[in-house]
Amino acid sequence: MFRVQTDARTAVLDVTDRVAGEVPDGVESGLCTVFVPHTTAGVTLQEAESGLLADIEQFVETFAPSDGDYRHDRIDDNADAHLRAAVLGESVSIPIRAGKLALGTWQSVLFVECDGPRTRQVEVVVTE
Ligand code: ZN
Repeated sequence: MFRVQTDARTAVLDVTDRVAGEVPDGVESGLCTVFVPHTTAGVTLQEAESGLLADIEQFVETFAPSDGDYRHDRIDDNADAHLRAAVLGESVSIPIRAGKLALGTWQSVLFVECDGPRTRQVEVVVTE
C-alpha cells in the first residue's frame, strides 16, 4: 500500500513507478492487482502523455457534470465524483513477467482523483 496526495478536485497522477516498487524481489511471474479503496477515485491504464492527462481530467469532468441534479448531493455534495469514479473503476490487473510489470509500450498506471484534494490509499496485491 502507498499513499498519494492530490492537490485539486480532479487530478490524474502517474503512479506506475510506485506500483512497480510494490512488486517484491523474486516474483518472476504473477499478477499485480492495483486497488483503490475509495468511492470517489479510480484507476486506469493509459498513456501518461501530459496533454492526454489533461484530456482525461476534462473528460472525467464532462461525463458527470458538476451542475447535475443528483439526489446524493442532498446529503453529501459530491455525487459527480462518485459517478466519475464508478465509470473509471476501482482496480486494474497487470501481468508480471520476468520480474517486471508487463505493461504495453504506452500503458501507465494512472490514479484518477475525482474529489480532491485528499490523501488517498492505493493497495497493491501481488500473487505468484
Ligand atoms: Zn458522497
